[in-house]
Amino acid sequence: MSNDNTEDTAALCADYQMDTYVRTATIVKGRGSRVFAPNGNQFLDFTSGISVVALGHAHPAVVEAIKSQAETLVHASNLFYTPQVGLLARKLSKAGLGGKCFLCNSGAEANEAMIKLARLWGSQNGGRYEIVCMRGSFHGRTLATLSATGQSKVQKGFDPLMPGFAFADFNDLESVKAAVTEKTVAVLFECVQGEGGVVPATEEFVQGVRALCDEKGLLMLCDEIQCGMGRTGRMWAFEHYGVAPDAFTSAKALGGGLPLGALIASPALSGVFTPGSHGTTFGGNPVACAASLAVFKVFEEEKVVEHAAAAGELFRKGLEAFVEKYDQLLEVRGKGLLLGLVLKEPRAGELIDELRNGGLLACKAGDSVVRFLPPLNVSDDDLEEGLEMVGDALDILFGGDAE
Ligand SMILES: *Cc1c(COP(=O)(O)O)cnc(C)c1O
Repeated sequence: MSNDNTEDTAALCADYQMDTYVRTATIVKGRGSRVFAPNGNQFLDFTSGISVVALGHAHPAVVEAIKSQAETLVHASNLFYTPQVGLLARKLSKAGLGGKCFLCNSGAEANEAMIKLARLWGSQNGGRYEIVCMRGSFHGRTLATLSATGQSKVQKGFDPLMPGFAFADFNDLESVKAAVTEKTVAVLFECVQGEGGVVPATEEFVQGVRALCDEKGLLMLCDEIQCGMGRTGRMWAFEHYGVAPDAFTSAKALGGGLPLGALIASPALSGVFTPGSHGTTFGGNPVACAASLAVFKVFEEEKVVEHAAAAGELFRKGLEAFVEKYDQLLEVRGKGLLLGLVLKEPRAGELIDELRNGGLLACKAGDSVVRFLPPLNVSDDDLEEGLEMVGDALDILFGGDAE
C-alpha cells in the first residue's frame, strides 16, 4: 500500500509515545498553507501547528535564518551574551512595553516566569501573592500554569493544585472586583480566550481591569501566547483595547516554528528579576531567536499583521454566511485570524473530522467550537478554497436539514 509510511509512523507513535493527544493524521512535509501526508495527500492547514507557523510552513526567510544560525552557533547558554538574543530583546521591547524580556522555550514557561515575577514583585510590595485568573482561560500544562487555568477538565486528578490563584468570570468586571483581596497582586487574562472557546474580551472589561489595577496597585498581566504576534490583526491583542498590561507573555508564533517563549515587562518591572531569581538552560537559544528575528523582518516588510486583519474580515464574512444558512450554527467569534465557528451542539469534533476528510485541517476549542488559525500571510485564494471546504463539510454534516 502506498500509505505504508503512514501506518508505520502512526503505529510507532501509538506504541511508544504517550497518549496525551488524539492524533488523526501523519504529516511529513509543509509548504506555505499546506501540509502533506506520506502518500502525497495534501491538506490546507488552518491550524498553523496551533497558531505557531504564522508565516506558513517552511517560509524561505525563516528557513534561511535557521540554516545559517545552525551553521554559526546553535547554543551557548545564558552564561554568555549572544547577538541574536540582544537583537530580539530590543525588538520585543520596541514592539512591546519599552522594558526588558526574559526568553524561554514555551508558553507555559513564559507564564511560569510571569507568575514568578508577579510573586517576587508582590513579596517586595506588601507581601501579596494571589493572582486573579479567569474562568475558561488556558495558561499551560505545568503545575503553576495548570493551577492558573480556569478549566476543571485539565486540572482533574492533579490535586493538590498550587495555591495562590483566585478565579473570576471572564468579561465580568464585578466578579474580578469581588475576587480581589488584600493578598491580590495581579489580574491575569487572555484578550481573546483561545482554548476556552475563542471568546474575545469586551472593551469595558479590559479597560475596567486596567483601571481597577491602577486603583488597587495590582499588576495587569496578559497571556498573548495564542492571540498575540499579529494573530488578531494587531501585533498584540491588547492593542485593540487602547490599554497596555504591566507584563505579558508570548510564545507559539514567536519562534517561527521553533520553541521560543518570552515574558515581556514594562520598565517598572524589568528590574525585579536579578541574577539567581529565575533561569533557563535553553531559553534564548540562538537558532530560535534567529528564526524569530526573521519572522519580525517579514512581518515588517510584507505588512503581515495588516494582511491578517484584512484576511480575517474576508474569512469571517464567509463563515458568517454559513451561520445564516445552517440552523445548527450559532455564531462566529474571535478577532482577525483567530476565529471560532460556534455550533449549537457539542459536535465540533464531527465537523473537524469531516473537514479533514475534505482536505482542511482545523482545531477544536471546546466541544462546540471549531477554531480556524490560518497562517497570517494566507492568500485570498487559499481562504476561498478553505471556505468552500467548510461549505462542503457543513453540507455533508447538516445538509439534509438546511433551509
Ligand atoms: C498554548 C497556550 C499556552 C501554553 O503554551 P505551551 O507552549 O503549550 O506551553 C498558554 N497560554 C495560551 C493562551 C495558549 O494558547
